[in-house]
Amino acid sequence: MKSNKKELEFCTTCPKLCRFACPVANAEYKESVTPWGKVGMLYYLSKDFVPHTTENYELMYHCTGCLACRQFCEHQISVPDLLISGRTLAYEHTRHDKNLEKGLRNIKKYGSVYGTDLNKKMRSEFESVYFSGSLKVKIFAGCVYSEKQMETVKKAVFILGRLGIDYAGIYSEKEFCCGYPLYASGFEKEFTSYISKVRSNLSGTKKIIALCPSCAYTLRGLYQQYDKGIRADILTFSEFILPFIRMVSRNKKKITEHYSYHDPCFMSRYLNQTEEPRELITRTGGILSEFLWNRENSVCCGGGAMFRSTNKTVSLDIAYKRIEEFRATGSKAIVTACPTCTKMFRDSDPDAPVRDIIDIIYDFLSQ
Ligand code: SF4
Ligand code: SF4
Repeated sequence: MKSNKKELEFCTTCPKLCRFACPVANAEYKESVTPWGKVGMLYYLSKDFVPHTTENYELMYHCTGCLACRQFCEHQISVPDLLISGRTLAYEHTRHDKNLEKGLRNIKKYGSVYGTDLNKKMRSEFESVYFSGSLKVKIFAGCVYSEKQMETVKKAVFILGRLGIDYAGIYSEKEFCCGYPLYASGFEKEFTSYISKVRSNLSGTKKIIALCPSCAYTLRGLYQQYDKGIRADILTFSEFILPFIRMVSRNKKKITEHYSYHDPCFMSRYLNQTEEPRELITRTGGILSEFLWNRENSVCCGGGAMFRSTNKTVSLDIAYKRIEEFRATGSKAIVTACPTCTKMFRDSDPDAPVRDIIDIIYDFLSQ
């Protein structure tokens, strides 16, 4: 475990200033799963004050990685990074959550947490020209979009074509995943060795358009922290297409509709991107009715940091609470920019109207 003695001590002695912001504590109604309770347990484990039991390590998995706690932390502590280091410790003591092993096996075998060869799937969906090594701009679709929402990936490719961007290919290799699930599961050594392969696959690429914000953050931030970093500009889809949409939207018919934009944690708190997707929506004619908790204070969908794999019921409860907040806005649909959020909302309430920002741009450009 990395040395983070100071942070552990701060949390352990804190009067729980961030307690109210934790979606897990708010859904489980237990003090032990507040940021204070979880980090406190990690502190006691690191000092050998408590036995290294599976039960004690289990608290490390009650976190969606949403980073909402940091918004209200005087010391700007990243609780998810601390708890993920606790998961690494749990793995070293063979006290980790066994549900996560399947993902590890799948990544080793298929390059993705899903038991699907996504490289093969992606190459069967698009013409071979998209995979040419000479293309220096690449769409990084990510596992969730490619496994669960391939139609959205196709729409993203259509959008780039419609905007005249004919120089972008698609990243698709045996190591399909960005590696974030390995990091979030606490498989630190496996993560470090895996990302060096992805980095090597991406050598020569000048620009990466990451459809999924957690891939964007991982490629941008975690690679730098754990490997050498990638020598390419890494942009989210919203960030990349905004200048193009600004140009075409001036003379294009708008689609007037009321939406509420749900800020995915990786967009708002990890990448500081709250205005780009909002501007995209309004440029297409969309009218925004905000969630009560929005932008950097947005509430998580419940699906981050492998929380759905380790605590499925609570994760869906968290998503449902966010849908209730959406219903109070009176708008027609939730728009988000992350495939995990979309899936969490749809699974938690199949009647919830949920759209991806890519759907909104696709409708606007294809009319
Ligand atoms: S993250 Fe900050 S506010 Fe929250 S318990 Fe730790 S020290 Fe306190
Ligand atoms: S990152 Fe989110 S889920 Fe994890 S402790 Fe902080 S507020 Fe709770």
